[in-house]
Amino acid sequence: MQDTDPEMPDRLVSPAGSDQPDPALRPRRLVDFIGQGDGRANLETFIQAASARAEAMDHSLLHGPPGLGKTTMAQIIASELNVGFRATSGPVIARAGDLAALLTNLAPRDVLFIDEIHRLNPAVEEILYPAMEDFQLDLIIGEGPSARSVRIDLPPFTLVGATTRAGLLTTPLRDRFGIQMRMQFYATDELMQILMKQASKLSMPLDKSGAEEIARRSRGTPRVAGRLLRRVRDIAAVAGAEAIDGKLADAALLRLGVDQAGLDLMDKKYLSSLAENYQGGPVGVDTLAAVLSEQRDMLEEVIEPYLLQEGLLMRTPRGRMLSVSGWDYLGLEPPQEAMRAQQLALDIAAGEATDER
Ligand code: ADP
Repeated sequence: MQDTDPEMPDRLVSPAGSDQPDPALRPRRLVDFIGQGDGRANLETFIQAASARAEAMDHSLLHGPPGLGKTTMAQIIASELNVGFRATSGPVIARAGDLAALLTNLAPRDVLFIDEIHRLNPAVEEILYPAMEDFQLDLIIGEGPSARSVRIDLPPFTLVGATTRAGLLTTPLRDRFGIQMRMQFYATDELMQILMKQASKLSMPLDKSGAEEIARRSRGTPRVAGRLLRRVRDIAAVAGAEAIDGKLADAALLRLGVDQAGLDLMDKKYLSSLAENYQGGPVGVDTLAAVLSEQRDMLEEVIEPYLLQEGLLMRTPRGRMLSVSGWDYLGLEPPQEAMRAQQLALDIAAGEATDER
């Protein structure tokens, strides 16, 4: 169970937040970065090509839910290219001058990482366009009649942007990224490999069944897997267990409030509220956010992606709907209407897919 209020955003299975206790656990080279299939393979090619030409790699946009390895990948890009790495985040760069200071301090071919790039101030974003495209900075110096514009040449650099909300990026910004990679949720066997590596770095005996139990319940997210591993390790240590096996991991995770499907109290509250207050929906996300006293962004970025991926929830044009599997998960009988609505939603989705073809 969470130490404090289980409904706080610092829940154990939240993919958000950064609680990296030991940066040594973060993979540093591409060979240690597990998963992300084609996206990873493509990046490898682009890195090799840029290195061979001794040029700055194309600007890259990494997008996807939190905790899937965007920051890690950005750092790996820099170390594979053997160049410097500077990190900042969208909301931190308040003024054009802040961005100018960052850019003018880069060495040729360096990687500048901007996390949460969808939250850049529009005035700063304007400055970024020519910097990305022509490696030039256009600044206005002074105010009023004495103001003048200066153009500064920048060293060629690689901007790596990360976002959980690619849809919120303006088109001109998105179009300036030559490489775009969508991070996917991880499969259980990939998470198992990540867990085994982390356990060995922490000198913690973890057997295959233990790794599988934790991996299955980690919402497809390495950050969650790492966090659960550390909490299970604490429980194992206090219990005097020598190694973590499936049975111990299962008992520890249940004690931590993480059920067999990797869902915690907040997820259950979300699903039950849909079932009990709205007969399974559809209901708007703003209404749900108000009922659950949560920020809409937190629902959309942290809770919903995994419920959607697991097929427990459906996003329809009229709002969120509990799927038949969602009703099953809660141990409730779906009302006839829910079955009909689900069929309708599926038909509409199929129709849209056909229209697109
Ligand atoms: P994001 O920036 O997408 O929120 P991070 O890069 O901070 O995610 O990754 C969260 C944690 O998960 C880090 O501690 C990192 O070590 C681990 N991690 C993420 N992806 C991988 C991976 N593919 N292989 C191994 N560890 C990973």
